[in-house]
Amino acid sequence: MAIGTVGVIGAGTMGSGIAQVLAFTGHKVLLNDREMSLIERGLKGIEKSLDRFLKKERITQEQRDKALANVSPAEDLSSFANADFVIEAAFEDLAVKTALFEKLDGVCGPEVILATNTSSISITKLAATTKRPDKFIGMHFMNPVPLMNLVEIIRGIATSDETFRITKELSEKLGKTPVEVNDAPGFVSNRVLMPMINEAIFALHEGVGTADAIDTVMKLGMNHPMGPLALADLIGLDVCLFILKVLYDGFGDPKYRPCPLLTKMVDAGYLGRKSGKGFYDY
Ligand code: NAD
Repeated sequence: MAIGTVGVIGAGTMGSGIAQVLAFTGHKVLLNDREMSLIERGLKGIEKSLDRFLKKERITQEQRDKALANVSPAEDLSSFANADFVIEAAFEDLAVKTALFEKLDGVCGPEVILATNTSSISITKLAATTKRPDKFIGMHFMNPVPLMNLVEIIRGIATSDETFRITKELSEKLGKTPVEVNDAPGFVSNRVLMPMINEAIFALHEGVGTADAIDTVMKLGMNHPMGPLALADLIGLDVCLFILKVLYDGFGDPKYRPCPLLTKMVDAGYLGRKSGKGFYDY
């Protein structure tokens, strides 16, 4: 089945990025959010991003215009009856996602694959809220979507080979590199990344080094483009804490225990770049 129209739920950071790459690669996109003003904000974000690519001469005026024309606002989810594939990028909240997938299950044709961009919720659990767990899959894009090449494709317990194949092909059409992983807390990306960030915070907490020293060791010594503490500030310390708790609860293993300093900073409202203060001041 050729995928012509893709429904995207959530016009925030990730949803608008996903909509942009879909539109740029010739797909029609139905962009949904809770209200029209949020969809419009997402559309503005897509326009701005495409204009930046145009200014840098990485795309042509025609490509920019075509991509923009491919995205239509979808205020009502009932229009997803016309979608060939759906990608959900709403809030990271089990209740929100469950309600959405129950609705989509009724609206979308039976052959339509439902994909979620969740960073931490079990794919198997979300799939079980639908009547099509074989056509349910995780499609974990990285931020910022137009610039990052990876898509972690997560198979739930019931995801069929056909669903995996179609999702992999779509990811490749978007110019991304799909990597297959199985459903487990944190998948691969956050299971490896978050303990590293947490350990860097422990090192700071225990006075092993300053934030700058820890980040410089990892940048110059390991060739990381960014130190783990600066990266935590970029991701958001609340998001890091949330994902560490998912790992800690999911595995029941104390090795994922969030550093008390991280908890304290989140309690204080020091959330990183978005709040102006984290391990660094912004
Ligand atoms: P965001 O807050 O920027 O955007 C979420 C959007 O979803 C908002 O515009 C919100 O209004 C909308 N939304 C919420 N409930 C909705 C509903 N019921 N119907 C329609 N729209 C609804 O969040 P984000 O950073 O874009 O994250 C979205 C998803 O992507 C989350 O599951 C998150 O875990 C995942 N994710 C985020 C990142 C990241 O770096 N930000 C990376 C990978 C995955």
